[in-house]
Amino acid sequence: MSMLGLGAPPGLRECSRAGCRSEATYSIGWRNPRIHSEDRVKVWVACGEHVGYLSEFLRARDFPVTVTDLQAAQS
Ligand SMILES: [Zn+2]
Repeated sequence: MSMLGLGAPPGLRECSRAGCRSEATYSIGWRNPRIHSEDRVKVWVACGEHVGYLSEFLRARDFPVTVTDLQAAQS
């Protein structure tokens, strides 16, 4: 979703929420069962403020959603 990344420090990921420039601390894996096969998983990243919004947006469409805490995964 983010078209940015230019000028961002390496490894810093920006929240996928439109207009949000915050550092993403969560990864949201999701899939649209109607158009994606089982092994095709899309990934959005989100800051703490928007992880709920983005995951609910996907769950409301009955997509399987997996939220991962990136900071926990790194440590
Ligand atoms: Zn955000």
